[in-house]
Amino acid sequence: MHLSRSGSLISVSGSLNVMVELPCSRCLEKNSYPLDPEFEFVLVPATMKNLPHEMELQQEELNIDFYDGEVIDLGQIVRNQIILTVPFNPLCHPDCKGLCTSCGKNKNKESCECLEKETVDSRFLALRKISGKKQE
Ligand SMILES: [Zn+2]
Ligand SMILES: [Zn+2]
Repeated sequence: MHLSRSGSLISVSGSLNVMVELPCSRCLEKNSYPLDPEFEFVLVPATMKNLPHEMELQQEELNIDFYDGEVIDLGQIVRNQIILTVPFNPLCHPDCKGLCTSCGKNKNKESCECLEKETVDSRFLALRKISGKKQE
């Protein structure tokens, strides 16, 4: 991580290499994911929240963050950078089969026939309803 200071502005750049443990969004099995966020941003003291106009224009481009007081909580900033790169729908495996919506079995480990039965059953029910109506 690299810090450089010009006046009250602090430029931070660097990259991280971390492993995070996240539950798979399909089967909820915990899995480790490597993350290597790269970041570069400028820290501006909170007292300068009313940015000069020209800086306001650059805010998105520059990735400006604010800091309060004398102490900069780099841990917090780094955590924010990690959170930004956490996958939204992490999967333990690209073709994870997920959990069965009926019996809750992890279909990567056990197979079940709930879904098949369900569709057959609902078709039967639909047929019965139709034929029932015809008989009335
Ligand atoms: Zn999974
Ligand atoms: Zn099932």
